[in-house]
Amino acid sequence: MKLALLIAAVDQTIGGVLVFGDRGTGKSTAVRALAALLPPMRVIAGCPYACAPEKPAGLCDVCRGGGKRHRAALVPVPVVDLPLGATEDRVVGALDIERALAQGVKAFEPGLLARAHRGFLYIDEVNLLEDHIVDLLLDVAASGENVVEREGLSIRHPARFVLVGSGNPEEGELRPQLLDRFGLSVEVATPTDLPTRVEVVRRRDAFERDPAGFAAAWAPEEAKLRRRIVAARRRLDDTTVPDAVIEQAARLCLSLGTDGLRGELTLVRAARAFAAFEGERVVAAPHLRRVAPPALRHRLRRNVLDETVATTRVERAIAEVFGA
Ligand SMILES: [Zn+2]
Repeated sequence: MKLALLIAAVDQTIGGVLVFGDRGTGKSTAVRALAALLPPMRVIAGCPYACAPEKPAGLCDVCRGGGKRHRAALVPVPVVDLPLGATEDRVVGALDIERALAQGVKAFEPGLLARAHRGFLYIDEVNLLEDHIVDLLLDVAASGENVVEREGLSIRHPARFVLVGSGNPEEGELRPQLLDRFGLSVEVATPTDLPTRVEVVRRRDAFERDPAGFAAAWAPEEAKLRRRIVAARRRLDDTTVPDAVIEQAARLCLSLGTDGLRGELTLVRAARAFAAFEGERVVAAPHLRRVAPPALRHRLRRNVLDETVATTRVERAIAEVFGA
C-alpha cells in the first residue's frame, strides 16, 4: 500500500489506489501520513479551489476575473474523507438556482471535490458507496474537472486528486467495470509474523505517550522520503520507457487476458513513476515486475473476487514473461 501511494504521489495521473483488506490495519493512517509527508502546496490565498498561482492557464473563475494580483499562501496537501451516504450536492457542490436567478449571481457552494483538489480523496468502504456517486467520482478523477449543471446553469472547476478507496470484498463487491478504472490495487492483511506485530505495537505506544517526541525522532527519515518524492516528480518527464519494456508489459497483459488496454498503460506509467522514485532515468524490467501485481491484479476476469488467487495469477504470468 505504501508503494502504491508513493507511486500515485509521484504521478497523480495513475488513477487512484484501491485498498482491499482488514479493518484496523492502518489504511487511513497511511493515506494521512503520506499527505503530511508531501511538501505544502502554493495556492492563491482565499481561492475556494486551491488554484496554483504559477499556473495561469488552469485558474478558476474566481481567480481569473478582475485582473487582480494574487497573493500566494502555503497550505498542507488536503486529505478529504468522503463519508458513505454523502449526497451528490455535498460531493460535487451545490448550485443554488433560486439565489442565482433572483440575484443574478452564481450561487455555488463548493463540495468535497473542490476541497480535495491537488490532494487525496479518501473513501473508506468504497464498495458500499452508491453506484452513481462512484461513477461520478471516477469521471471527475479521469477528467480532472468537476462540472455541475442544473437547469441550464453550469459551473466548472478543476478537481484533480488521487482517489483512494478502501474496502473489504466480503462486505460487498465492486462492479468489475469500476475496478479496472482504479490505477492500482493492493491487499492489506493483518500481519502474521511476530516481529512486525511487536514493532507496530511499540511504535504506536511510543507515539501515544509522546506524539511530539515521536514526530521529532522520525523527522529526518520523513525529510529524506519527501526529498525523494519531490526529486522523482521532477525526474518523471525525463524518464524514458524503452520499447522492449512496453513489449513486456503488453505480453504480460496478453498472457493474463486483461480486457482493453488500460492494463498495460497503467503498468507502464506505474513502472516509470517507480523508476523515477528509485532515481533512475530509464525504466527496466525489474521496475515493471515490481509494479505488475498492483497494476494488474484487479483487471483479471473472474467470478469471485478472490484476491489471493488474482495475485498468484499475476505472479505466474510474470514468471512466464520474464523467466522465473
Ligand atoms: Zn481559484
